[in-house]
Amino acid sequence: MKVVIPRQADPEEPRIAATPESVTVMKGMELEVVVGAGLGEHLGWSDADYEKAGATIASGDAIYEGADLIACLQPPSADEIAKFPRGSMYTGFLDPFNRDDLVRAFADAGVAAMSMEMVPRTTRAQKLDALSSQHSLAGYYMVLLAAEKLGKALPMMATPSGVIQPARILVIGAGVAGLQAIATAKRLGARIEAFDTRPAVKEQCESLGARFIDIDLGVGEGQGGYAKELTPEQQAKQREGMVKALHHSNIVITTAALFGRPAPKIITDEMLQQMKPGSLIIDYAVSTGGNVEGSVADEEVNLHGVRVLGLKNFPGRVAFDASRMYANNIVGLVQVLFDKESKNLVLNTEDDIIAGCLITKDGEVVNETIRERMAQTA
Ligand code: NAD
Repeated sequence: MKVVIPRQADPEEPRIAATPESVTVMKGMELEVVVGAGLGEHLGWSDADYEKAGATIASGDAIYEGADLIACLQPPSADEIAKFPRGSMYTGFLDPFNRDDLVRAFADAGVAAMSMEMVPRTTRAQKLDALSSQHSLAGYYMVLLAAEKLGKALPMMATPSGVIQPARILVIGAGVAGLQAIATAKRLGARIEAFDTRPAVKEQCESLGARFIDIDLGVGEGQGGYAKELTPEQQAKQREGMVKALHHSNIVITTAALFGRPAPKIITDEMLQQMKPGSLIIDYAVSTGGNVEGSVADEEVNLHGVRVLGLKNFPGRVAFDASRMYANNIVGLVQVLFDKESKNLVLNTEDDIIAGCLITKDGEVVNETIRERMAQTA
């Protein structure tokens, strides 16, 4: 069976889907691995490194010849999908809630597309949980970016020249990215507060050294462990409960997300006016609409003296490790597909991981959630 990892088409995406290490693991499963020429060059992995690990190097459309599974990070274009062999499998981030065009292109091409975003967040699927691997590195990088931009030290320092008070950081949304941000900020000596609508997170925040802001919104977890959307009354209560912490924070990191939906708007223009001038907000949610009113992707904007910055691709700033983790996630999926007896990659739709992430198969949109949503918007 042939696994193909083409060169990433988006020139702005530095992360890749295979490393020499991941090729070695797939070769150990007696799979044929084909890698796009120059795939890892910018990260220090030469074509020779991939060849040494057992991969064949290819370029142009010929790379897809005889492919059983194609793995990428960013979604391919509809033109590219049309080049994939009918009956092959594809995996990568697909943004299936927003990309009806791609979902249709996969169905039309007769390719079984698996979305890394739709992998269930279960213990068994942890090894292939690409959302977690990438959110985690983003959480780390957001704190470094904030520390670099703030112009103030993060830890407390008592020096003969005076005492520096620790920077105060507020983390809103304590999922994978938020928790890693808390852990990183703690290592750097900041004083941290955190809030999340899922009460289950309180203990995790506290164990990492953050004070959890208790605002009783009366919400639990939604389907799949994801957050539920708040009512306008709950939103108002949340905003009121966060005002004091916002007022004294030097850095605010917002990571609040609602699965498959635009990000909740949490920090309003009015709240920005109540913040300390010179403080900084890092808005992780900017690519899905932003948690902050007025934040702009890949731009630093000054709103009432508060600098607001959100990047479209935070994990891409740590591309070497983000690629290593993502390549491991792809290997995790290959291991789920791998049938030990026949040594084939088999699409077993009875498997809960495959059933969760499979979007198209045999020319049809087979994922119920995506099919229903597409029917509503058609
Ligand atoms: P996410 O990116 O979907 O959301 C980030 C955080 O924003 C979440 O913690 C969410 O509760 C929070 N949020 C949403 N609305 C908010 C609001 N108005 N104010 C403040 N916070 C708000 O989350 P994620 O990091 O991808 O994790 C999603 C779920 O998956 C979590 O329950 C997580 O624990 C779970 N998970 C499970 C596993 C596993 O068991 N293998 C692995 C990873 C994640």
